[in-house]
Amino acid sequence: MSALVTVTENLWSDLDVEAIADAPLGPLTWYGAGGHAEVLIAPRTIEALRTLMQRCRSNDIQVRVLGSGANLLVTDEGVGGVVVRLNHPAFQKADWLGDGTSTTRIGAGADLMKLVQESARRGLGGLSQLAGIPATVGGAVRMNAGGSFGDTAQSVHSIEMLTIDGEDRTIPAAELDFGYRQCALPVGIVVAAHFDLVPGNPEEIRKHVKEVFDYKKSTQPMADRSAGCMFKNPIDPATGRRESAGRLIDLAGMKGQSIGGAFVSERHGNFVGLREGGTANDILALAFAVQQRVLDHSGIRLDREVVVWSKRCENADKRRSEVP
Ligand SMILES: Cc1cc2nc3c(=O)[nH]c(=O)nc-3n(C[C@H](O)[C@H](O)[C@H](O)COP(=O)(O)OP(=O)(O)OC[C@H]3O[C@@H](n4cnc5c(N)ncnc54)[C@H](O)[C@@H]3O)c2cc1C
Repeated sequence: MSALVTVTENLWSDLDVEAIADAPLGPLTWYGAGGHAEVLIAPRTIEALRTLMQRCRSNDIQVRVLGSGANLLVTDEGVGGVVVRLNHPAFQKADWLGDGTSTTRIGAGADLMKLVQESARRGLGGLSQLAGIPATVGGAVRMNAGGSFGDTAQSVHSIEMLTIDGEDRTIPAAELDFGYRQCALPVGIVVAAHFDLVPGNPEEIRKHVKEVFDYKKSTQPMADRSAGCMFKNPIDPATGRRESAGRLIDLAGMKGQSIGGAFVSERHGNFVGLREGGTANDILALAFAVQQRVLDHSGIRLDREVVVWSKRCENADKRRSEVP
């Protein structure tokens, strides 16, 4: 592993960005835990982001992108390099053109829950299956967020992104090879997504949004500090079908177990919550214990769905813009 590069102000001082050195990341995630970013940068323009990425690339500085932090655990020691946040208006704009023939372009920093409501208000169908999922548009695309009613992929037409070299690319959905909680996104930052939204009966769309949201509320501990499902639902080698990770965790006797401030939800075994004062290390230790117990009990290995940012993997592969 090469020596870590220290980020200096020269990287951003002449750019149209807001930058905070040694920025606490915990408050920007749903877990509310974890360490600091060496520097947190919120670009105000796409040009500033492009130049920033080009400079990071040529100075060998790792870039990560933070969405709403709903699927993210930052380890307690924090991360080096640059963390980008797309919370300025240039990255949150929505161009509502869903007339059935044109796509609707939405900035990657936009709040998905608000978009679901707004599209229903406008009588546009295509996003209601995502009701209640906390995300930015970029995070929802990257994770192909979804659930029992459908996923993000089903209405994405294409995305616009900046590659790790700061090059603009537009990628059609077909090339993103969307799958269960994943897609083949090249390393870089999604800056906008185009959705195929179709006009429909506003009353019907609102009803569907409510149905999806009510179902989610009745099955998941939405008020806990968590990052949603800790593990992906695994394929059971015996049946070849996807098995519920929550059920396996329950069968392994891990519901309600805790380490430090971290606990496995009694409501949904695949949610690892965090009490006040708990740490990212508590969460990682409990997730590991759950993984081991399920493996011992069922012979099935659970893969994490939650993305973990840690110093340990830094610069292990400089083509990556994030730690998997
Ligand atoms: C209470 C709760 C309920 C949840 N329920 C669900 C659910 O029902 N279904 C579901 O699928 N998920 C669920 N989740 C998880 C989470 O909502 C999704 O994974 C969501 O897509 C995360 O989006 P985000 O913007 O918060 O991304 P973050 O958590 O900030 O980041 C996740 C990953 O996406 C990357 N990323 C973020 N923005 C971009 C971008 N612009 N370009 C490229 N990469 C980017 C990050 O680098 C990181 O690798 C839940 C989470 C919580 C806390």
